[in-house]
Amino acid sequence: MSDASRKVVIVGGGLTGLSAAFYIRKYYKEKGCKPEITIIEKDKVLGGKIETLHRDGFVIEKGPDSFLARKTAMVELAKELEIDHELVTTNPEAKKTYIVNQGRLHPMPPGLVLGVPTEIGPFLRSGLVSWSGKLRALMDLVRAPRKSTEDESLGNFIERRLGAEVLSNMTEPLLAGIYAGDTYRLSLQSTFPQFGEMERKYGSLIKGMMTGKKPVETHTGTKKSAFLTFRQGLQSLVHALVHDLDDVEQRLDSAVSAIEQHSGEQPGYEVVLASGERIAADDVVVTTPAFAAADLLRPLVDVTELDAINYVSVANVVLAFEREDVSGSFDGSGFLVPRKEGRNITACTWTGVKWLHTSPEDKMLLRCYVGRFGDEEKVSYPDEELIALVRKDLRELMNITAEPLFAEITRLPKSMPQYPVNHLRHIAEFRSRLNRMLPGIYATGAAFEGVGLPDCIRQAKELAGQMADRLAR
Ligand SMILES: Cc1cc2nc3c(=O)[nH]c(=O)nc-3n(C[C@H](O)[C@H](O)[C@H](O)COP(=O)(O)OP(=O)(O)OC[C@H]3O[C@@H](n4cnc5c(N)ncnc54)[C@H](O)[C@@H]3O)c2cc1C
Repeated sequence: MSDASRKVVIVGGGLTGLSAAFYIRKYYKEKGCKPEITIIEKDKVLGGKIETLHRDGFVIEKGPDSFLARKTAMVELAKELEIDHELVTTNPEAKKTYIVNQGRLHPMPPGLVLGVPTEIGPFLRSGLVSWSGKLRALMDLVRAPRKSTEDESLGNFIERRLGAEVLSNMTEPLLAGIYAGDTYRLSLQSTFPQFGEMERKYGSLIKGMMTGKKPVETHTGTKKSAFLTFRQGLQSLVHALVHDLDDVEQRLDSAVSAIEQHSGEQPGYEVVLASGERIAADDVVVTTPAFAAADLLRPLVDVTELDAINYVSVANVVLAFEREDVSGSFDGSGFLVPRKEGRNITACTWTGVKWLHTSPEDKMLLRCYVGRFGDEEKVSYPDEELIALVRKDLRELMNITAEPLFAEITRLPKSMPQYPVNHLRHIAEFRSRLNRMLPGIYATGAAFEGVGLPDCIRQAKELAGQMADRLAR
């Protein structure tokens, strides 16, 4: 098939797949090519992990609930789709975050940036770490830096710079929350590469974070908020993409079961659906989780690197209350629970306070997270048992004894990819092999270069750009 009418099949209709369709169409058109794009999605709906529920006046996120404002790909896409006016910021009054220590909620000291202290006074006054732990952390200011650019684990790095106590009581609950992972198994380079760069540049993580700290801008530039979402929930973005992609074939409830190579001279592929139907393609973009991509690509290419990416299962339990029934003061955005506390929940967002648009004024919405690496079995407990475990923690930590108005449970089995040490190098090797052996087949998404929603869009956009550059070369 000529480049003027290329057939592109996208496997997986999560945010990566939808954004890939959006930018491939855009960049191919700019090159004078009118692509025929098909998105094939296993589920009955598009959006992947993103799912918003509207219930009794509440806006409830069942998957992700917001995104980092400083990663601009999301806001740029919202602008292109003309829905940026729907973006909302966090409640400026709900700045405080708490961390549990020995069964009590302690405010995170001001100046803690990504779990790293950048204001010495508040850090020294914090009840989260012992005096010896604080002194050990301040050794970061004088300890010799590691010069090597070799990858290491996030846990190893933080322990080396700030000590084991700051790692377990402050940094781990904050950072590992994003991956639900074991910091000693997560790659530093693939999760927080800026930390290693700061050590090399400033000789100290604390000094680097102090220097690098700058105010966060939002889409409007008027209000400051580290996180953003959409007034009607993140699904607004999915709906806008689906609507905009009305010239793209969207096949739902259709799992891809294999990808086969044409036997002819031209490189080309057939995407085989579970129904047996076959769809011809010049380009195939696989955006599924790594384990599903590995199953599809294994017959064609070595997928060792994809097999090395483990996934953790998590659940979230959202509880709605009458505001007057929950007496505690909600003067922040919620709390995090370090692993060593041995609780059922790993974190709790005071959603009704943090995101004012999510709850009627006289109600309160709490979102509790369950499951992390090494503690995943509770995720599959029956609903009643799971709710009881969550309520036990809320009772003990926040003195909440009221009966909730309702509970919404979302289980996300094998949903959090764990980037192993040397992940970036492994992925580069895998992609180079894929490119050499199967030109026209691409793999991208949360398993590769960032799990955040803006990371998924950025990766899809960059890939679309590379694919367009290859046209008619
Ligand atoms: C509980 C949770 C909370 C999170 N919170 C946040 C947050 O607040 N902010 C943030 O930025 N990020 C958050 N993330 C991360 C973010 O949600 C994900 O990284 C992102 O949504 C992944 O998008 P994706 O399109 O790459 O993958 P997915 O959303 O997983 O989409 C992949 C799609 O492929 C489909 N598929 C799989 N196999 C096949 C097949 N054989 N054939 C066809 N289709 C197939 C799947 O059904 C799915 O729809 C969170 C993740 C989880 C799990």
